[in-house]
Amino acid sequence: MDDRQGSLEWAEQKAKEIATLLLFWYEKNKRLLPWRTTADPYAIWLSEIMLQQTQVDAVIPYYRRFLEQFPTIRDLARAPLEAVLKAWENMGYYSRARHLHAAARLVVDSHGGQLPQDPDDLKALPGIGPYTAGAILSIAFGKPVPAVDGNVKRVLSRLFAVDRPLNDGSTQRYISLLAEKLVPAENAGLFNSALMELGALLCRPGMPTCSACPLTSICLAYAGNSQHQLPVAGKRAKRPHKEAAAVILRDSGNRLLIVQRPADGFLGGLWKFPGGMVNPGETVSEGLKNRCREELNLSVSVREPLLTLQQGYTHFQLTLHVFSGTILEGNPGLPATGNWLWASVGDIRRFPFSRAELRILEALFP
Ligand code: SF4
Repeated sequence: MDDRQGSLEWAEQKAKEIATLLLFWYEKNKRLLPWRTTADPYAIWLSEIMLQQTQVDAVIPYYRRFLEQFPTIRDLARAPLEAVLKAWENMGYYSRARHLHAAARLVVDSHGGQLPQDPDDLKALPGIGPYTAGAILSIAFGKPVPAVDGNVKRVLSRLFAVDRPLNDGSTQRYISLLAEKLVPAENAGLFNSALMELGALLCRPGMPTCSACPLTSICLAYAGNSQHQLPVAGKRAKRPHKEAAAVILRDSGNRLLIVQRPADGFLGGLWKFPGGMVNPGETVSEGLKNRCREELNLSVSVREPLLTLQQGYTHFQLTLHVFSGTILEGNPGLPATGNWLWASVGDIRRFPFSRAELRILEALFP
């Protein structure tokens, strides 16, 4: 059925039945996850942000440690950004941590330390888009609004046999309308969680486990045996490849030179080794020397290659070449800007680094 108006009406008619079946299944089959035993909006918000790009199993220890370190929104707002980034270290997608921290400060300054329940106020906070707002409003505040994440999109595309690419804007709007029709006036948070759980446990990408699904009597993809072809994949842009280079520079005391990235740029606020992207037309070695000059006003000689690693980011794939080197001209010392310093090998891990730098540290200074 791709008569969209007809499907929306049908969704409305079936909503109660779907909610009953799904909630019954959820109650019996849900995973016991730490954020499911709290009613604290801050903890629920934190879990939603962490889960956006990270698997459940990986999130659990971060979630627990983060709440131990920053138990309330006010604690988070008071903390320096660097401590927050350190607590997030190696989980990736660090803009989540920066936004969470900035949002906590706004919540304290403008909302008396309580997450706002008004959808527009909530969505005005950094890092809170329609999905996260829907999840917080429904799960923490019981509001009857949908929360459409990737799992929900996949489930609904099968349930209603949506045969258009999911990444198409009009398909996304249509799926959101379907979700609005389905969400019940009561237990909206449980319903949204159940729909996501169904996507995570049974209605998985590739091979859904329909034999255990509570919705087979309703699912149009199951009825038409098209569940393996749905959702329709859209065209994916190939991630461009970039090259970067970094240099390990030591002072006479064998300490390592590290640099803090600008707060508002790529991986902002995290520390790194000197270097940066290699521009078109530069050799890797030229690029490294040029970035050291631009970034630190240092002239360096590049010596032997130490390692090369591949690292994937959201919008590109990176090859990072790491060299040893020496300073030819310039005297770093402790700079006035405070964004670079010498760190001993024993001390260096107290600074927050991105995954690529952590891999360098593990390889060269295990
Ligand atoms: S019946 Fe299969 S395809 Fe349909 S919602 Fe359930 S798991 Fe997904």
